[in-house]
Amino acid sequence: MTPEEKREARRKFYAGEPAAPSAPQVSYPPCRRTASWAARIAQFAEVVLSPPVPDSVFALRQLKCSACPHRQEKGGAFFCGCCGCPKWRLSTLDFKNRLSLWECPIGEFGPADPA
Ligand code: SF4
Repeated sequence: MTPEEKREARRKFYAGEPAAPSAPQVSYPPCRRTASWAARIAQFAEVVLSPPVPDSVFALRQLKCSACPHRQEKGGAFFCGCCGCPKWRLSTLDFKNRLSLWECPIGEFGPADPA
């Protein structure tokens, strides 16, 4: 590190500025709710009965949801704010992200092969 870089780092430190530019913000598209209630209920039933995905797919989905502005918290559990499901035990992200036919309603991830 050159003396100029050290001086600049010290200046940023005392000014309360971040030492390095922050990571670029990932932008997520807005929710799209076009399906009717009947279609959503039928789709939910199909998804809930689908077999689980491998742990690696589950972890990747959880990571995407954790950065998503549409994720909502209720009673200590996390839910997707875009899918239109009521917030109950079978629609938590911890549960749905394990299901192979579950897909993100804004296209962040699709259905996956079961484990
Ligand atoms: S399923 Fe998609 S829209 Fe819903 S919280 Fe996860 S990333 Fe966001």
